[in-house]
Amino acid sequence: RVLAAELAVSRLTVENAYGELAAKGFLQARRGSGAYVCHPYAPPARPVAEAAPFPVDPFTTGASRLDGQADSPLPPDVINFAAGVGNPRIFPQEAFRKVMHSVLRRHAEEAFHYGDYCGYYPLRDTLARILSLQGIPARPEQILITNGSQQALSLVSQTLLRPGDTVLVEEPTYAEALTLFELQGIRTVPVPCDADGLCVDALPALLAAHRPALIYTIPNFHNPTGRCLSEPRRRQLVKLAEAAGVTLLEDDFVGDLRYQGAALPSLRSLATCGQVIYVGTFSKMLMPSIRIGYLVADAPLYPRLALRKHVDSFTTSSLLQRSLDAFVTVGSYQRQLQRACRLYRQLRDVAADALARHLPPGCRVELPEGGLFLWVQLPPDIPVSRLMPLAWQQNVTFARGACFYRDNPQAEFTLRLNFSAQTPERTVVGIERLARAMALCREQ
Ligand code: PMP
Repeated sequence: RVLAAELAVSRLTVENAYGELAAKGFLQARRGSGAYVCHPYAPPARPVAEAAPFPVDPFTTGASRLDGQADSPLPPDVINFAAGVGNPRIFPQEAFRKVMHSVLRRHAEEAFHYGDYCGYYPLRDTLARILSLQGIPARPEQILITNGSQQALSLVSQTLLRPGDTVLVEEPTYAEALTLFELQGIRTVPVPCDADGLCVDALPALLAAHRPALIYTIPNFHNPTGRCLSEPRRRQLVKLAEAAGVTLLEDDFVGDLRYQGAALPSLRSLATCGQVIYVGTFSKMLMPSIRIGYLVADAPLYPRLALRKHVDSFTTSSLLQRSLDAFVTVGSYQRQLQRACRLYRQLRDVAADALARHLPPGCRVELPEGGLFLWVQLPPDIPVSRLMPLAWQQNVTFARGACFYRDNPQAEFTLRLNFSAQTPERTVVGIERLARAMALCREQ
């Protein structure tokens, strides 16, 4: 307010400016002191461990993880490999406009209403059929439509977990899941991972030592590593969770974006009792702004989750659910998926080739069979906190590995590249710039 008065600009302008600074990671909140503008990649004012009431301060760690997303547009000369979604240029504008118009022409009254809080039944029915074709047991009555899969994760966390509970998570894992658990006072215990995903051999000891209430896992094209959990490990994981009576939360955020190799069975399809909650989303396969995700759960959990959804946000937009159902039913979704897979496969190969040609020795890159992300491990003389500002100077950016760890020194030598979001030409130029930043980092 003071700033607005002094500069004679509207308060809204100032608020918007603050919002933008916060979104880009330029604001740092210090509790009891206020908000400070800072360089987004400056080290935190206090070391995270020092600020750790339980087990780390979610307000500092959560905010510092935000640059893992970087989904808001950056200046056009910056090549952004940090985003968490697919390529906006292929979002199906025209086809989706048509189905929305048709819904508005024919069902405007219902589409403008709240609708069923469990989700538009025909969409749940459509999803149940798609999931069943993939071997994932799901009846419409077991499907709850959510505002993106993030809300599904949040509903599960709020319904199943209490402050002080423990969740086993892959290390590294999806940044906003870590922050979600931390904000609720849930302790996350990392499970080591390798090229075949979560190391299930480590589980018996961790289950015995921590008695977790939940295991959160991303078995397909993991965020951030792009890895898939191997089939034997999937079977072993389900067996161990069932034996220990622990619920598995299976986050399948890009499962349909497979470019090679055979699909692997979902954990839910391997379960013998209702111990797996399956979560899916249309954000990556279609577009994130429709905010339609879903979860599949059994009774007696389902009604508890549905009630939580009701008090959390009543419903997910009827207009968008009806439009999405029409989009899937007429076959547009399937066509879009094929288009996305063709393009992303090509972009993955372009990125892998450019990385092999340009990155300095000592970098390790894993080639995923699908999804959106390439995981890069850096040599000891290229720490990511030094690389990041140099990359910005070269007009290229990526997601720091640290966004996906709770607290592990290895994070300093990792980064995630979204290979799907640029044209092939910009992908190559971006990787050349990244390699230049690495060379500069080594020279320093
Ligand atoms: N799970 C994972 C692994 C993700 O990466 C994301 C988004 N980046 C989500 C869930 C949530 O996405 P949405 O709410 O858009 O479905």
